[in-house]
Amino acid sequence: MTVNLLDLDLEGLAVFCERLGEKRFRAVQLFRWIHQKGASQFDDMSDLAKSLREKLKGVACIQPMPVVSQNLSTDGTIKWLFDVGDGNAVESVFIPEDDRGTLCVSSQAGCAVGCRFCSTGHQGFSRNLTTGEIIAQLWFAEHFLRKHLKRDDRVISNVVMMGMGEPLQNYTELLPALRVMLDDHGYGLSRRRVTVSTSGVVPMMDRLSLDCPVALAVSLHAPNDLLRNQLVPLNLKYPLVELMEACQRYLLHAPRDFITFEYCMLDGVNDLDEHAHELIRLVRAYPGAWCKFNLIPFNPFPASGLHRSKPDRVMVFSRILSAAGITTTVRKTRGEDIDAACGQLAGDVKDRTRAVERMARQRTIPIQPFRHAATTTLKA
Ligand code: SAH
Ligand code: SF4
Repeated sequence: MTVNLLDLDLEGLAVFCERLGEKRFRAVQLFRWIHQKGASQFDDMSDLAKSLREKLKGVACIQPMPVVSQNLSTDGTIKWLFDVGDGNAVESVFIPEDDRGTLCVSSQAGCAVGCRFCSTGHQGFSRNLTTGEIIAQLWFAEHFLRKHLKRDDRVISNVVMMGMGEPLQNYTELLPALRVMLDDHGYGLSRRRVTVSTSGVVPMMDRLSLDCPVALAVSLHAPNDLLRNQLVPLNLKYPLVELMEACQRYLLHAPRDFITFEYCMLDGVNDLDEHAHELIRLVRAYPGAWCKFNLIPFNPFPASGLHRSKPDRVMVFSRILSAAGITTTVRKTRGEDIDAACGQLAGDVKDRTRAVERMARQRTIPIQPFRHAATTTLKA
């Protein structure tokens, strides 16, 4: 069976090399070719012996995911839709900012948690992505962007696991992918620049804190169990008190001294003054300035039956939290014109009609093999 080398972290690749009768340090060379130089052909790996390259061709490959579409927003955000087979697709979004380039990565095709306000949740669960499929998103985006922008240095400085899926319900495949992101021979991202976002899978938060404590974002969305049970059904299994305790334990290992709480602002549902005051009581049960709030304006989709909070409501809510000493930011919505904003990632390739309509509305960058792609097509 051919092994997809994107599935392996450096340790896995070292074991693979040993099985081939090669020295472990060959793994470092191979790993750097794949992740730092974006090589997908063994013949391009000029400092590997020809005999090794031939051996590798027989047993291994570097298998990217087919790109279904690529869309560029007027604000510079780029969204890719990748085909993962059986009519399923996942999305990745690149968000350029002055001081950083962030890639939002998917961990599952669909999601089993089924949050009320999330279009991925409404789509149901298809399957977990493999490590290779998680890493292929970063591998493709990084090397595609370098070619397009004609840059030799790193383009993607931050990764957020905030695309489709609940990363902590795909822990086995997520963990090696995180290790590839952090590895100095891989993407060399610091633990602060890789964020796992979770709806609150408590046991896996503990596992992550021990195995690979990257930055953590927790999707809170409600200040009490009654409301959170309705918005984030996983709360029935892991209620708020357990979630708060898990956050406290995570902080003992976290690369930052705070947890980010994401809070999707839903008109008349969770955005009243009393909700803000209840949130303050919830976090004050634990000492210190240990969390930050990120208020996300809800990105509506028809089936949700929910509405976005009015901007002045978001401002008032934010001021109440800030006045209590809780650092609070309001997330700027990016890539709305290409349905790339939080919670709009649906990635259903079966839904051809919608895809075609969307293409007509959007600026679609023609997909070309990226070694021939022209820089000009990236300008909004
Ligand atoms: N499953 C993980 C990560 C993916 S969702 C999680 O839930 O944390 C990434 C973020 O987008 C989460 O904070 C999620 O609550 C938010 N989100 C989902 N749907 C949204 C929508 N329609 N509008 C705004 N934010 C949304
Ligand atoms: Fe899944 Fe996160 Fe969407 Fe909830 S918000 S359904 S956990 S992807």
